[in-house]
Amino acid sequence: MSALNVAKFGGTSVANFEAMSRCAAIIEANPDTRLVVSSACSGVTNLLVELANGVADQERRAELLQKLANIHDTILSQLNDGAEAASEVYSILDTITSLAEAASIQASTKLTDHLVACGELMSTHILAQLMRERGMDAVRFDIRDVMRTDSNFGRAEPELTSIAELAQQKLVPLCQQHVVVTQGFIGSDEEGNTTTLGRGGSDYSAALIAEGVKATGLEIWTDVPGIYTTDPRIAPKATPIPEISFSEASEMANFGAKILHPSTLLPALRHDIPVFVGSSKDPQNGGTWVRREVESSPAFRALALRNNQTMITLRSAKMFQAYGFLAKVFEILAKHKISVDLITTSEISVSLTLDKTDTSGGAPELPLAVREELEELCTVEVEHNLCLVALIGNRMENKGYAKEVFSTLGDFNLRMICYGASDHNLCILVDAEDANNVIQTLHRELFEQNIQA
Ligand code: ASP
Ligand code: MG
Repeated sequence: MSALNVAKFGGTSVANFEAMSRCAAIIEANPDTRLVVSSACSGVTNLLVELANGVADQERRAELLQKLANIHDTILSQLNDGAEAASEVYSILDTITSLAEAASIQASTKLTDHLVACGELMSTHILAQLMRERGMDAVRFDIRDVMRTDSNFGRAEPELTSIAELAQQKLVPLCQQHVVVTQGFIGSDEEGNTTTLGRGGSDYSAALIAEGVKATGLEIWTDVPGIYTTDPRIAPKATPIPEISFSEASEMANFGAKILHPSTLLPALRHDIPVFVGSSKDPQNGGTWVRREVESSPAFRALALRNNQTMITLRSAKMFQAYGFLAKVFEILAKHKISVDLITTSEISVSLTLDKTDTSGGAPELPLAVREELEELCTVEVEHNLCLVALIGNRMENKGYAKEVFSTLGDFNLRMICYGASDHNLCILVDAEDANNVIQTLHRELFEQNIQA
């Protein structure tokens, strides 16, 4: 099969005319890039989410709509021949206006998805036109014709078999003739309703599309030059990682390294598609390759931080020497589709953290109905203001590993530790106020020892 590269650009990469032009140059530089997946222009999804939540105050609504119009107008005005793209964008802005009004009367998750999808629908009209003006044979494609999902609005699940079939039928032939520009983040259910994959979902979209068309490579262009040992804003001596394995990178994404949406690597891993992550502002500076096989597997690879953790502690004397307690707890959580992240147990209690990101973002809450059901079994304590620090590495079962890590953390209050279940991560839950300090300490002691000052 001939090479087919998918290039995905995040919101900041398509924030304005200059940024979009840099994307076009990146696409031109790789003749194998036949498929481009774009996010909404930076800031647009947030404005749309606010409108979708229902803005009753007409003035505020008009203000938000104006902001949306301005972001797109500014780019359109810099095109040579933006009339057609402009008319498409204005018609989407009209749709947004009526949907926002409807949401101000009654918001719903279905309406929200319809509204927030408009960001990507607009940015792709503009990007495709900009590429054509640079001489590329670019066409815009509505990914809702391929990205089939279930109807779980706000966090829809992709239907892989349909996506693969539709991609082969509709996208592959188009890519043979043109450079195709399409939307990340959005899809549609069987009835044709617009859905979204959850905030930040366009990386995941790009990987699903890459899988569907059987791409030979996937580039994720963002605003940071690859994956770092940790967030350089927290630990300034963090360094870029040139090459990392799928398993390590998935752990990082799962545990909050914002660089990739957690599900992104699953499709790439299934089809063994190498993934490149780099900065569209600075493409010549390289980035990180994520592959199945890598040359080095250091004991300490990276540190990730996830804020806004919710810890639930369930206690029951009945748990003592009894069986079935955990099964009951998880039955309740599963029934309510609550995804659990970390878990530790003692004789009479179990602590777990909740994992949830949907279109609205924010700290996960234990819904009242679930709490009430759990309270029939045990006492329930909910704690907020916690952060999860995850150390990603290799050969964690080796002698001395835990000692090396924990001997650096003597000054901190560690609320929960998960170690041993995975070969690639060690997780520690700490008070939010200590989190940066924990990251800095671990980075200094475990990662900076060999770095020349
Ligand atoms: N535009 C969407 C968001 O801001 C999806 C994405 O950028 O990945 O969440
Ligand atoms: Mg984004």
